[in-house]
Amino acid sequence: LGGSISRALAQMSNATVIDEKVLNDCLNEISRALLQADVQFKMVRDMQSNIKRIVNLETLAAGTNKRRIIQQAVFSELCNMLDPGKPSFTPKKGKPCVVMFVGLQGSGKTTTCTKYAYYHQRKGFKPALVCADTFRAGAFDQLKQNATKAKIPFYGSYMESDPVKIAVEGVERFKKENCDLIIVDTSGRHKQEAALFEEMRQVSEATKPDLVIFVMDSSIGQAAFDQAQAFKQSVSVGAVIVTKMDGHAKGGGSLSAVAATKSPVIFIGTGEHIDEFEVFDVKPFVSRLLGLGDWSGFMDKIHEVVPTDQQPELLQKLSEGTFTLRLMYEQFQNILKMGPIGQVFSMLPGFSSELMPQGHEKESQAKIKRYMTMMDSMTDAELDSTNPKLMTETRIIRIARGSGRPVRDVIDMLEEYKRLAKIWSKMKGLKIPKKGEMSAL
Ligand code: GDP
Ligand code: MG
Repeated sequence: LGGSISRALAQMSNATVIDEKVLNDCLNEISRALLQADVQFKMVRDMQSNIKRIVNLETLAAGTNKRRIIQQAVFSELCNMLDPGKPSFTPKKGKPCVVMFVGLQGSGKTTTCTKYAYYHQRKGFKPALVCADTFRAGAFDQLKQNATKAKIPFYGSYMESDPVKIAVEGVERFKKENCDLIIVDTSGRHKQEAALFEEMRQVSEATKPDLVIFVMDSSIGQAAFDQAQAFKQSVSVGAVIVTKMDGHAKGGGSLSAVAATKSPVIFIGTGEHIDEFEVFDVKPFVSRLLGLGDWSGFMDKIHEVVPTDQQPELLQKLSEGTFTLRLMYEQFQNILKMGPIGQVFSMLPGFSSELMPQGHEKESQAKIKRYMTMMDSMTDAELDSTNPKLMTETRIIRIARGSGRPVRDVIDMLEEYKRLAKIWSKMKGLKIPKKGEMSAL
């Protein structure tokens, strides 16, 4: 008897050792991925010790997929680290507000200012741009060009060298013109660093922004924390935008920026073009940080909630990467009819934050129905086309008439389609895993 007890004990401690080893190996591997993604060394270390505290070795011993348990714990820990616990200020239509952009030279401020203005213009805001960068030659021209392309009013000067004076003049002028979103672009460089931060403080004091946005290049690496903190110490940063997410960098520095500014990431920049701009969505972002790809969670969800007989066709279409208006129509039908597929699509970055914001299910449904009404007025050729140029002004007007909706609504619907098609196209060539072969998340 004594022998079997000691054998059992030995086995138990063996099991514990093995699971601790699994945990350590797994954490080491994840940590390497995070360091490669530019997450600050100290944060990776903190995350490791937090996970060791959270993950219960006994659960781990009993769990069938240990890696999955550990990865899920890391996943939610990283999501928590990106959540400062309070939302940022959001502009309200018809109520004048001032948003100031800060960040180092080259981080993408001027580009992002216009993207931010354009995004809100499409939502019915009346934005305006003020160029308070008097340091860099050509700064005003760049803003002017961007603004003109997007038909957004702008203010700046080639002669005036005082950024505070220009900022104040611009803000006053656009307040008089009843703009509800006045965006102040600033300089990111100075002969002396201290002078830059002093300038930011003065511009902020003079224009009293409702929101200061810190713009950060996703590839800035370990410097993110100090940089964000330096800006936070001179102006009251309330949100972060991470740019150049279309490149190789995974943007792990955002964790530092969130920690240093105690503000959330609100958008990401995904290209040089004005509409390459997305509402920040934490889950795909963290998936990418961990090197899991945007779609691993999505694939799991499909197997979980889509009826088995419908899976092959949907997955086939996903892997082809072509997204027609008809396919959008069918997915809308599914969303309205089945519910569960609504859950599936709410996992896609675009669907969740834009089309179906949480807590607005009724409005989202109404919007989807409106879109479908307009699509009912489309021809088969239009529904099955993959050529975005097909939708000419004449066709748009005809669809608006046919469905009794304003032209603006048809354009909105088509923009929604373009956005979804872009997301969809990322799935192209996707290897479709079978059930049981899922990636760890
Ligand atoms: P600023 O000095 O902070 O005002 O930065 P700019 O707005 O002038 O941007 C610097 C460079 O980065 C420009 O060449 C932009 O086109 C580019 N850029 C900005 N945002 C993005 C982005 O999201 N993706 C890519 N690929 N390039 C970007
Ligand atoms: Mg600039």
